[in-house]
Amino acid sequence: MTDDTQTIEKGHVEPIDEEPKLPGHERKLDPLPDWEPRYPGSGRLKGRVALVTGGDSGIGRATAVLFAREGAKVAIAYLSETDDAHMTMDAIEQEGSEAECFSGDLGDPEHCRKVVQGVIDKWGRLDVLVNNAGEQHPDKDITDITAEQLQRTFQTNIFSMFYLVQAARPHLQKGAAIINTTSVTMYQGSPGLLDYSATKGAITAFTRSLSENLVKEGIRVNAVAPGPIWTPLNPCGGSPPEKVEHFGEDTPMGRPGQPNEVAPSFLFLACEDSSYMSGQVLHPNGGTVVNG
Ligand code: NAD
Ligand code: MG
Repeated sequence: MTDDTQTIEKGHVEPIDEEPKLPGHERKLDPLPDWEPRYPGSGRLKGRVALVTGGDSGIGRATAVLFAREGAKVAIAYLSETDDAHMTMDAIEQEGSEAECFSGDLGDPEHCRKVVQGVIDKWGRLDVLVNNAGEQHPDKDITDITAEQLQRTFQTNIFSMFYLVQAARPHLQKGAAIINTTSVTMYQGSPGLLDYSATKGAITAFTRSLSENLVKEGIRVNAVAPGPIWTPLNPCGGSPPEKVEHFGEDTPMGRPGQPNEVAPSFLFLACEDSSYMSGQVLHPNGGTVVNG
């Protein structure tokens, strides 16, 4: 290896503005999303420690709070929406559990190492890693996608998963679970989300390959592929406004899903209920049949 070889530690990281316009803030959505768990806990994650990226809002918040209801201590990682993150932390604590949060860019491998180390320093273990943070930018034409956007979308959506799993790997014991958020766009294609849907394809392939890589160690790796879910992602810049007006109407159920209709898929894959499943994808998507 020569001195100028780019390792993951030194790889190019496309910077984020100091005060980024995205991601959106959940508390500004009208109507507010439904994220509260819909049923009493039964100790399914008792004694477990989970890290949920993008856990400040949307699907991540609903998942983080459901995990807490099931007995897990939960850390959330997010970019910059501290108001939303504090609300999620409060909700985790109201479930009688402990919470921690980390703000910063998960597209930066150094930050990913700090987040995982922060969880280990606080609780001494990591059992469930939910790779859920993501960004999405609509573009009509492939020529509208800038080099910076392409790099950032891949950096946030898929590179971060490599960085986090690399940092977490030494701490993951037999029985640990990794769950990645992919998307229905990966299965159906999405003409206005070329870069985003390509990252989601990579995430599904990564999930399957990592599963085969870790299965003998007793670590399961699965994914969730949501359909249109009412979170800040689409209304706050991830979709053109004319599409947001009809968000989810083209699903068989004719409506968008709520975050608390998706979180149970993550819980199932995180706990022993799914002990014979690895390398698989669940599809809370309003009834769209995608097979896979
Ligand atoms: P969301 O905006 O609530 O969550 C995304 C989170 O990712 C944000 O809260 C943000 O803090 C975090 N994030 C973005 N860039 C980051 C970065 N560089 N570093 C650290 N954190 C960063 O929206 P959501 O819909 O709940 O999204 C969660 C996941 O679900 C995403 O991976 C998204 O692609 C996926 N998804 C969403 C939908 C949908 O319709 N909402 C559909 C399919 C898949
Ligand atoms: Mg957010």
